[in-house]
Amino acid sequence: MHLRTKKENLMLSKSIKIIFSCLLLTACSQSEDISPSNATDVILEVDPTLFIPAGLVGTITKVEKTLSNGTTTMCYKITTSKTPTDHVMGPWCPTNATDDASKGGLWFEKGNIYDVDGAFVKNLATFYNDSKWNLIRSDGTIKVTNTKEACQAAARPDVDPQYNNYCVECQPTYFSNIKLTYYIPVKPIKTNGTTTLGGGAPGGMVGVAFNGINFDPPAPTQAILGAYTLAPMDDAGGHVNGATGYHYHAATGKSKKVEQSDGHAAMIGYAMDGFGMYELLDKTNKEPTDLDACRGHYDTTRGYHYHVAKAGSNSFIGCFHGAQGSVEITTN
Ligand SMILES: [Zn+2]
Ligand SMILES: [Zn+2]
Repeated sequence: MHLRTKKENLMLSKSIKIIFSCLLLTACSQSEDISPSNATDVILEVDPTLFIPAGLVGTITKVEKTLSNGTTTMCYKITTSKTPTDHVMGPWCPTNATDDASKGGLWFEKGNIYDVDGAFVKNLATFYNDSKWNLIRSDGTIKVTNTKEACQAAARPDVDPQYNNYCVECQPTYFSNIKLTYYIPVKPIKTNGTTTLGGGAPGGMVGVAFNGINFDPPAPTQAILGAYTLAPMDDAGGHVNGATGYHYHAATGKSKKVEQSDGHAAMIGYAMDGFGMYELLDKTNKEPTDLDACRGHYDTTRGYHYHVAKAGSNSFIGCFHGAQGSVEITTN
């Protein structure tokens, strides 16, 4: 009986490895034709079943669209009426100096998040070290915009001076006719370079939560504060404007999330380039340490994906690493 020597065994296992990797290489070089990403990268398609049907107008369909890099490809067409079905909206502004945190929303400052209760509003002159802050009338009530016209005049970039020193809130009912249609590439296309936020889609949208609400670029807090106004977010990190209706500036864990079986942070939606958006912290409350400038990184389970910034930082991701889809807004 011929016993194989150690060397022969090694050669045999080497040749099996070579055959195996050739098979892999063949499979990979085919996918290389479709995508400019590394041949070995896992690229996950968008999963349309993760969206909450009750938050959508009609069903999700596939249509051909041109992405931000000029590539024409199949996109999911997702239309939403901008009403979250997985949490309540508001409140935003407390109405009295004695109101507790349950009567108001949240405000961001220097990366931190604050409850906007009556005491917070009363303390603004101290908080911002500026005596011009004064949102409270002598009877203890707080000046709050309470019509569509007032909220629009107070929320425009050059705030109407009569609404200086107001807490600004727009009710969702003022803009209930707004519908958003997102076109998100079925299979994300990673680009070599990155794209800064703010361009492309109307309002420079960052992405969409599973309930159909948009993740917006940073709120213009300096313009808001410059007019001695506050425009609080609710406890879900959202508020309303006349451009896109209800939208998010922070992920506070209130909208649908998809838990990950390996302890990775939960998924909360998709960015406009079709890459997944995940919470900041994993099951052990740790932040990823290898994020790129876009706040993205790669693993073989999820492919390239983003981790949103801390609530209070007034941002979600740093830039896009993929070719972005587009958004259409209708108001009928
Ligand atoms: Zn906003
Ligand atoms: Zn991750």
